[in-house]
Amino acid sequence: MHIAGNPDSLTPQQRELVALAAELGREKFAPRAAQHDRDATFPFDNYEDLRRAGLLSICVPREHGGLGADFATYVMVAAEIGRHCGATALSYNMHVCSTMWAGFIADALDMTPAQRADHEANRAIHFRNVVEGGKVYSQPFSEGGAAAAGKAPWGTLARPVDGGYVVSGKKIFASLSGAADFYGVLCTVDKPGATQRDSLYLAVPADAPGVSVTGEWDPLGMRGTVSRTLLLNEVFVPHSARLMPEGLYWQAAARFPHMFATLSPTYMGIAQAAYDFTVAYLRAEVPGMPPVKRRMYPTKQIAVAEMRIKLEQTRALFLQNARDARVDPDKDTRMRLYAAHYTIMENAAALASLAIRTCGGQSMLKSLPLERLYRDSRCGSLMLPWTAELCVDRLGRECLYEAGERDEALE
Ligand SMILES: Cc1cc2nc3c(=O)[nH]c(=O)nc-3n(C[C@H](O)[C@H](O)[C@H](O)COP(=O)(O)OP(=O)(O)OC[C@H]3O[C@@H](n4cnc5c(N)ncnc54)[C@H](O)[C@@H]3O)c2cc1C
Repeated sequence: MHIAGNPDSLTPQQRELVALAAELGREKFAPRAAQHDRDATFPFDNYEDLRRAGLLSICVPREHGGLGADFATYVMVAAEIGRHCGATALSYNMHVCSTMWAGFIADALDMTPAQRADHEANRAIHFRNVVEGGKVYSQPFSEGGAAAAGKAPWGTLARPVDGGYVVSGKKIFASLSGAADFYGVLCTVDKPGATQRDSLYLAVPADAPGVSVTGEWDPLGMRGTVSRTLLLNEVFVPHSARLMPEGLYWQAAARFPHMFATLSPTYMGIAQAAYDFTVAYLRAEVPGMPPVKRRMYPTKQIAVAEMRIKLEQTRALFLQNARDARVDPDKDTRMRLYAAHYTIMENAAALASLAIRTCGGQSMLKSLPLERLYRDSRCGSLMLPWTAELCVDRLGRECLYEAGERDEALE
């Protein structure tokens, strides 16, 4: 089954890149997934394959030597990778977003001519790093406070100095810690009265003096992301480290909200994988299992039908979301986006859970992938800024209030 449902509706590039991701996923990533999960190790081998296939440059614009994929193309490829290895897809998303945000998202935003020229020069360096150098970028934003939910300025500070900035702070859950060549760090320009508008998105070289990775990494799921704590202690970076001009992240978050919806395709893939496994299991086609068929029982048929319905509901919103992405979406598009993101994250966990219940006890053995899908799927609705809770918060508020509406004080 194609991750996008009907491949005939896709562009030639979408068909080609999803097929490439499917081949890599099936032949390389899936066979390695159990080991990386067990040992909580970063899949350097998968990244070498992504590099060779040109997929590190998927969202680098064509004029900079990349594949120039748009939002819809990227999320389909990401979902297909997630189908075979969730942790690889999730960390790959951190890398790709660094190029997407500096690429077509920045292109859609307002900048002064001077900012645009400066951005063009800076991003050319980073795109070259990816396209020619095969370098990997990550996106450690979370700090454990209110900033990653969009409710406070970043606690990580960038002090302007001659030639660049000096950065200090701490990022938790830094996927690709110890694996990325550059950490795409969100920080606040250190100046009196700085607010969220004074955000800065900087590519900090992993080997810069003052950068260190600390802490344990032994989580429930997504173990191959290796998301340890990143410490930045008075790290100097030059002006060319700016992946976006000062303040532009704030504009991007407000005007291009689909930028945060790139976290859910991984979980679309996991949802598909849970369904794929269940069908193969009930048909007695899972390698290494005794060929005991369970498909003839009406209870199993009903269970798998319910799974398929949930999967198709998830896919429908996923595809609509993929095609809705644009600058300044109207309110209904933004609401659909929250609903889609919420649905994918929650349904992935629900489908993995249903899969275990439907297949039965033997299916959750560590020798099979289902229990990993179950654990990985649980992580989706915890990802900031749009956890399942925060999607509900936003939706509820926006269903009932128009912009600027306030309630009178209650007596
Ligand atoms: C496998 C994995 C990989 C990750 N990789 C990255 C990464 O590469 N980069 C990165 O930046 N982060 C990453 N994260 C972090 C993730 O995005 C969250 O920041 C993290 O899970 C938050 O955990 P917390 O316990 O500190 O959340 P808290 O901030 O303590 O929030 C707990 C819950 O409270 C709710 N909440 C939070 N703020 C508010 C609010 N203002 N109003 C109402 N409710 C609120 C949310 O639902 C949230 O789930 C990763 C997380 C996981 C699990």
